[in-house]
Amino acid sequence: MEALTGLGKYRDLSLWWDTLPGPLVGDPRPALEGDVDADVAIVGAGYTGLWTAYYLAKADPTLRVVVVEQETAGFGASGRNGGWCSALFPASWDKIARMSSRDEAIRLQRAMFDTVDEIAKVVADEGMDVHWTKGGTVGVARTYTQLARGRAEIDHARSWGFGADDYAWLSADQMRERIGCTDVLGGTYTPHTAAIHPARLARGLAQAVERLGVRIYEQTCALSLEPGVVRAAHGSVRAERVIRATEGYTPSLPGYRRAVIPVYSLMLATEPLPSTVWESLGLARRETFNDGRHLIIYGQRTADDRLAFGGRGAPYHYGSAVRSDFDREPAVFAELRRVLIELFPAVADYAVTHTWGGPLGITRDWFASVGLDERTGVGWAGGYVGDGVGTTNLAGRTLADLVLGRRDSDLVTLPWVGHRSPQWEPEPLRFIGVNAGLRVMGTADGAEARSGRDSRRAAFFNRFTGH
Ligand SMILES: Cc1cc2nc3c(=O)[nH]c(=O)nc-3n(C[C@H](O)[C@H](O)[C@H](O)COP(=O)(O)OP(=O)(O)OC[C@H]3O[C@@H](n4cnc5c(N)ncnc54)[C@H](O)[C@@H]3O)c2cc1C
Repeated sequence: MEALTGLGKYRDLSLWWDTLPGPLVGDPRPALEGDVDADVAIVGAGYTGLWTAYYLAKADPTLRVVVVEQETAGFGASGRNGGWCSALFPASWDKIARMSSRDEAIRLQRAMFDTVDEIAKVVADEGMDVHWTKGGTVGVARTYTQLARGRAEIDHARSWGFGADDYAWLSADQMRERIGCTDVLGGTYTPHTAAIHPARLARGLAQAVERLGVRIYEQTCALSLEPGVVRAAHGSVRAERVIRATEGYTPSLPGYRRAVIPVYSLMLATEPLPSTVWESLGLARRETFNDGRHLIIYGQRTADDRLAFGGRGAPYHYGSAVRSDFDREPAVFAELRRVLIELFPAVADYAVTHTWGGPLGITRDWFASVGLDERTGVGWAGGYVGDGVGTTNLAGRTLADLVLGRRDSDLVTLPWVGHRSPQWEPEPLRFIGVNAGLRVMGTADGAEARSGRDSRRAAFFNRFTGH
């Protein structure tokens, strides 16, 4: 049996960590001991930090790029997520247009479509086996309210100039051909999503950046991030450019307590299901799936034929606390299993082998951003909510262009670049407001399921969060 030391202790972080190939023997990479000089210092070895390091090192092999990680690469959400590598940007087109223009909102969405293909390209170029299958996403409507909402989404996409190649409506029969869940009335389909094994991507990226000469210091918690320097307990990195890539963990850094809140998303996975079961469940192209409820759920068929299924619903913790025991909420796992069986009754006979969770990051205006303050040299990216697998790649390419001063890059003028979100409220207001909002979304789903009508209460959360 693998000893629970070294990297082995990370196995139970998620299904993905548990199914990384090979025994996870060996230690994390060495910690920072002493002071080092670099051109760019990045805090956080999740997708944001690693993609940034990747594109910087690719663009200029002479750059000294250093990444500092408190645990090990892929420890955070990047090694635990649902594996939807999607073109979802975590804000609506209308909202982006209000902050910029209609054309810019469309340009950002098209950049997200391209991002999924860009990730596929790097994955192939670097020889990473991340179980990539671009089967798209089905959004199943299972109530008449969800049906109306799905149709409205498609009409909305058309009004923004996106055709059926990007967002299509599926009749009940067409949907049943793709997914064998209960109560199918129809729904939406977009081809712009790949199902992936998230930890393979995070770990593979860390190896890829090292091959390019990037230094990663693990087991090294940055105690502060300031212009020109990242300080840790046993050393510091001095660099002209310092990048914050800490997402849900950001509030632990001095000066950033109210920049982002960590909200937990929790997941479970079944044992591998036999082919006889998959004949009725469908998802033959490993389509990722959700349904139209307010309290988001998401799932994928894994490459080894499990159902991996997740949702929000875990409470926000006072003071934006992040602790490993917050990853496990038995009541949320029980609810996830109940919903999974409601969708796929055949799964009731099979074991749930893994349960896990992790913090994602939400800004006060629910608007992700990326930027570099030219005056201080401090850059950042984050606030992706549950849509960071794709968006972090766009962030990494954009940060690289900003650091390299590429003013002619199309990326550095996208409308999320340089956006500054307001701070969250101080406690206890934040705690009361966020948890009330989370509860209201669940209540709205219950009301819809019972009455088939929209609950106006759902709007409360959206007003509180500005979503
Ligand atoms: C359960 C779950 C399911 C999700 N599902 C999806 C999905 O299907 N599709 C999707 O697009 N998105 C999904 N997301 C969101 C997505 O995973 C994240 O948006 C994305 O991984 C963020 O990457 P990141 O690098 O910015 O942050 P993280 O991966 O969280 O990385 C931040 C890193 O910074 C390190 N760190 C933090 N503070 C310090 C410090 N002071 N010093 C040193 N290191 C530090 C952390 O240890 C961590 O490794 C999900 C998230 C969760 C939790």
